[in-house]
Amino acid sequence: MNKPQVNIAHAVTEDYRKTLEQIIRDGVCPFCVDFCQGNKPRYHPNPIIIETDWWAVTKNMRPYPGSSLHLLLVYKKHVLYPWEIDQKAWDDLRNVMKKLATDYSLTHGTLFQRFGDTEFTGASVTHFHGQLIVGTSRNEGTDPLVVYCGYKVPGK
Ligand SMILES: [Zn+2]
Repeated sequence: MNKPQVNIAHAVTEDYRKTLEQIIRDGVCPFCVDFCQGNKPRYHPNPIIIETDWWAVTKNMRPYPGSSLHLLLVYKKHVLYPWEIDQKAWDDLRNVMKKLATDYSLTHGTLFQRFGDTEFTGASVTHFHGQLIVGTSRNEGTDPLVVYCGYKVPGK
């Protein structure tokens, strides 16, 4: 791949920055290497929890602070946009979510998917994927979980 498939500006730790630098030197998409080719992951340290024909689910290597669960749901083809996802994969995602809800006794959570140019979304990997984040309830002393979903428009 010619264009880098990761955005080093969004590395939040020094270790992650080093991993992204290696991925750029290798000239690959890390999610294609780790989740789409049937090989042992080269960059991602956590095992695949659920794998279907369409999705690979794993724990995020850098869970958001304060989350009790933070999973990545990686589409197993290299696409950048949700409209490139096969309809069967959307149906399958519903099944994956239902299994995760059962396996982790989920009654709540946040599922989000960034797409497109990472300079606008805050993502570090271009390959289309979802993130499932679980926190706790709003009680005295709890703060909101913060998710990067892009950058504020000045003056808005
Ligand atoms: Zn990819």
